[in-house]
Amino acid sequence: MDKKFGFGCMRLPLLDPNDQTSFDTETFNKMVDTFLEKGFTYFDTAYVYHGYRSEDAVRESLVKRHQRNEFELATKLPMRDFQSAEDMERIFNEQLEKCGVDYFDYYLLHNIGVNSYKKACTFDSFGVGLRKKQEGKIKNFGMSFHDTPELLDEILSVHPELDFVQLQINYIDWENPGIQSRRCHEVARKHGKPIIVMEPCKGGNLALVPEKAKKLMKEYNPTASVPSWAIRFAASQEGVMMVLSGMNTMEQLLDNTSYMADFKPLSKKEYKIIGQVVNIINENTAIPCTSCRYCEKGCPQNIAIPDYFALYNGAKRAVTNNISSQFIYYLNLSAKHGKAGDCISCKQCESACPQHLKITELLKDVSATFDVTPAFPTKK
Ligand code: SF4
Ligand code: SF4
Repeated sequence: MDKKFGFGCMRLPLLDPNDQTSFDTETFNKMVDTFLEKGFTYFDTAYVYHGYRSEDAVRESLVKRHQRNEFELATKLPMRDFQSAEDMERIFNEQLEKCGVDYFDYYLLHNIGVNSYKKACTFDSFGVGLRKKQEGKIKNFGMSFHDTPELLDEILSVHPELDFVQLQINYIDWENPGIQSRRCHEVARKHGKPIIVMEPCKGGNLALVPEKAKKLMKEYNPTASVPSWAIRFAASQEGVMMVLSGMNTMEQLLDNTSYMADFKPLSKKEYKIIGQVVNIINENTAIPCTSCRYCEKGCPQNIAIPDYFALYNGAKRAVTNNISSQFIYYLNLSAKHGKAGDCISCKQCESACPQHLKITELLKDVSATFDVTPAFPTKK
């Protein structure tokens, strides 16, 4: 694995955009072949992707059509789909069968946050991972993580057996107080864990930046695509071994593989341009909260006001309407804090806010966005 760019299999080409299981197999086959021909080897799927069918699609287009030693395959244990140790064993065996392999190169506990971590402890999911590794059915054991740096630090301290972590890293979430990419990255580095990056383009949103930002990028390098800036930003961070991108067209694949074939980290000048792009994106921000956190102290409902506002801003910028990543962070945060909808309008926070934000009204908008959104499609 000498190229740090992986094929994310959560947004595969479809024949019918309204049917997540209507794979365009012909296109996917061609994309898989081209990806391998260009020297890339890493494929990332999960039990739950594409209405629980992504693993089947990977078997048909990749595993059945190529030698096992030509590619590396990663998949994930769905933390919400098991209720016992036996369930985990059954799902793991089902995954081997669905993928048509007898081992996984990378196996992850999927979407670890405060609640799923408790569940992983209750059912010893970490022990299952270790056992499967000893049995030779997993080469590398890790987790994908969507919560605070403090929890990440705790988990990596208690579970040094994890070989790697998968984190959401992109230039717009790097300093986002709701997601804290930079601090999570620092924690993973402190523990010496290799990092796999998910959502480098934030669900496609960083492929569609405001015109003013696009102009800056194009002026500096007319041939570099807008997404290339986001993927190279993620790949440029220390300790990053792999950047995943969900691709559904050959055009995207050809673009991504062109600059990741011989990856060059961002230069100082390019980082500066990204800083300007972040400012332009943030200018179009729904709630001008500065994250000073003066409002939080004393909230009788323990509502994570600035973090919710940051996630809401991310959701409002989501030009592709893909707000699932913000929603996952909201779910994890609201497991420890009051939900936006729990606000009792005491207005204690408003008197503390130097930006004079109408926090109680804004929380109603946050609640309308996040307290009602379903997280994932359920298994049919
Ligand atoms: S108005 Fe709502 S958010 Fe503000 S302090 Fe009271 S309960 Fe908390
Ligand atoms: S006091 Fe106002 S600006 Fe500061 S974090 Fe709270 S809502 Fe944001």
